[in-house]
Amino acid sequence: MKKLKKIFLVSSVALMHGNITAQSANFKTKNPYYSKTETAKLKVSNAEWKKILKPELYQVAREAATETAFTGKFYEFDEKGTYYCAVCGNALFLSTSKFATTCGWPSFYEPIRKNSVIYKKDNSLNMERTEVLCGRCDSHLGHIFDDGPAPTGKRFCMNSVCLDFVPIVKNN
Ligand SMILES: [Zn+2]
Repeated sequence: MKKLKKIFLVSSVALMHGNITAQSANFKTKNPYYSKTETAKLKVSNAEWKKILKPELYQVAREAATETAFTGKFYEFDEKGTYYCAVCGNALFLSTSKFATTCGWPSFYEPIRKNSVIYKKDNSLNMERTEVLCGRCDSHLGHIFDDGPAPTGKRFCMNSVCLDFVPIVKNN
């Protein structure tokens, strides 16, 4: 109950300040590694990331925590655009590969390009799973499962907090 209250408070605060995107944009000005064009692999220690990232992002991206199901900002979200790594700005997914799911987290059937994400065996919580990491900064993004739709049959089950979304700009 306490936790629910806290989440409610946090989202109310975010609403009062305009929107969450604007807030993360402010935060990112302090992140010297964030780039949507650089692709060179980053080697940054967790001690350094801890000084740069918002605590809720640090916990998931660098300590592999999982955000609570059905709470992420992109779970029920279907705008057209591109999803980037919230830690380093690496392009990860297109909205065209996002599909509706009841699992509680935003899910995609394929990454934007082959090397945008990397994979690692994860045997935590007594389960055999495959962890999905950012191909540029090695941050934890979520897990991949074999119950996704065609054409890949994969479900990239992601934490919203690890994603930044940029909508397609319409030129009229
Ligand atoms: Zn990254």
